[in-house]
Amino acid sequence: MINLKRIRKCNDIELVSGPVVYWMSRDQRVRDNWALLYSQQKALEYQIPMAVVFCLVPQFLGAGQRQYHFMIEGLKNIERDLKQLNIQFRLLQGKPEEKIPEFLKQSKSGLLVTDFDPLKIKRKWKEKVGRLLQIPVFEVDAHNIIPCWIASEKQEYAAYTIRPKIHKQLDAFLVPFPEMKKHPFLGEKEAALPIDWEIVKKNLKTETNSQLQSFFLPGETEGSKKLKQFIDKRLNHYSSTRNDPTKNAVSDLSPYLHFGQISAQKIACEIKKTNAEKNSKDDFLEELIVRRELSDNFCNYNEYYDSWRGFPDWAKRTLKEHQSDKREYLYGLEQFENGDTHDPLWNACQMEMVKKGKMHGYMRMYWAKKILEWSPTAEKAMEIAITLNDRYELDGRDSNGYTGIAWAIGGVHDRAWLERPVFGKIRYMSQKGCRSKFDVDQYIKNVNLL
Ligand SMILES: Cc1cc2nc3c(=O)[nH]c(=O)nc-3n(C[C@H](O)[C@H](O)[C@H](O)COP(=O)(O)OP(=O)(O)OC[C@H]3O[C@@H](n4cnc5c(N)ncnc54)[C@H](O)[C@@H]3O)c2cc1C
Repeated sequence: MINLKRIRKCNDIELVSGPVVYWMSRDQRVRDNWALLYSQQKALEYQIPMAVVFCLVPQFLGAGQRQYHFMIEGLKNIERDLKQLNIQFRLLQGKPEEKIPEFLKQSKSGLLVTDFDPLKIKRKWKEKVGRLLQIPVFEVDAHNIIPCWIASEKQEYAAYTIRPKIHKQLDAFLVPFPEMKKHPFLGEKEAALPIDWEIVKKNLKTETNSQLQSFFLPGETEGSKKLKQFIDKRLNHYSSTRNDPTKNAVSDLSPYLHFGQISAQKIACEIKKTNAEKNSKDDFLEELIVRRELSDNFCNYNEYYDSWRGFPDWAKRTLKEHQSDKREYLYGLEQFENGDTHDPLWNACQMEMVKKGKMHGYMRMYWAKKILEWSPTAEKAMEIAITLNDRYELDGRDSNGYTGIAWAIGGVHDRAWLERPVFGKIRYMSQKGCRSKFDVDQYIKNVNLL
């Protein structure tokens, strides 16, 4: 059963006759997807066909070949898996505000379902599309376990303020998923032409400096394999070693979560079922649920999530007071991007991200804080960190990325610490601190061998 609080009606129009269309965007999967399940529930209720449509834009928030490759391979699997369920998959290319209404008109659709995403660009697309439609539109939060608008109605101050709100709702929302059914009502035959994925790729205008790599194989099935490997081999050590980048203790699920190729709710259900050590399960679920959903809360309620304007007042003040402090080192985007600083540890973090498409979580904090330390202003530091994060991380362009960077550079969800040059009261991190926690030289060696 779908908890109806997960769904928002976006206009007052009542059902018009015609197929149900799910405009898939953030949640790119066939299994464990509340937006797809809701679309089918509606289509079965009215005994009509349904279709899934994805609108591919040629450029997206600095994404390069590696991210497009990961996404397109995932979409190919979606086309295949939906076919097995008698559901058409259509790929559109161009501006959603043009292509989606055009498709809905052509296919004489009667109802549109879409998935929730707090990022500004996605909200704009939906607003523009919504204005042009004369059919009912529903938005489903298929990404968060507790729908973002139910978890909290305002921007939360920190993890400790959202945690009780989330925990209070878990029994109602953290439930197993029903299966999709083979759809009994078929759409028009001519619409089901196979997609020429090679042409699709040729039409992209991706940045060329972001080369393909093979550390992460794309798709729903690969995401599920990663989860199984994590549960079987690493979950037990998560609590003790997740902050050591020389130990392979983290889940590596973020690229799959980012593209919606795996559901966080499914992961949480699987983790809860295991007999792994309690601290490890609790720590992992804290990251997966509380920290991840706190990021969506920040981006949903703070329109400046990707700029210094989104920082709390105390952080803006302290950074301003220290803006003219002398920086021992100053670098520009190019030196950072090439991993060309005086600090071999920082360079290794950058190269881990460039070569692998994913930097270890603990190193992301160090990486972003040093960008603040070696940039002329916090504003510039935010810009550089977001550019590099979105260009190289497979999981970039995500609420978690904007929030993580705003945490490291601008004290979002953090508190004031002991005052020091450049950082003011923003929490500081040093290479010495890293050395006391893990084998820094080993980490650098490991990255060089990638
Ligand atoms: C400066 C900075 C930049 C970041 N950029 C991104 C980004 O672009 N995309 C991204 O998904 N995450 C980002 N994070 C958050 C976090 O570092 C990654 O989610 C994590 O490293 C992903 O690896 P994993 O899946 O192996 O993590 P695991 O430790 O196995 O955690 C499992 C899942 O929990 C969630 N999670 C873990 N840590 C956090 C956190 N601190 N905040 C929110 N959710 C968390 C993620 O969904 C993650 O996939 C960033 C953090 C910082 C400090």
